[in-house]
Amino acid sequence: MVELNVPKRRRCLRCGREEEFDESVHGWVVSSSSGETYCIHEWDINGTHNPIAE
Ligand SMILES: [Zn+2]
Repeated sequence: MVELNVPKRRRCLRCGREEEFDESVHGWVVSSSSGETYCIHEWDINGTHNPIAE
């Protein structure tokens, strides 16, 4: 059994943009309209997010 540590929400440390993980698309969707579109987002989940899903 593979144990995944995938958070359901992440927040950019630089512009405050918030996203939620949508399992139906296996990707992040913006949960709020705040933040900079062109920001090179620096998420608060660095190091704990394992994007690999089998
Ligand atoms: Zn950002």
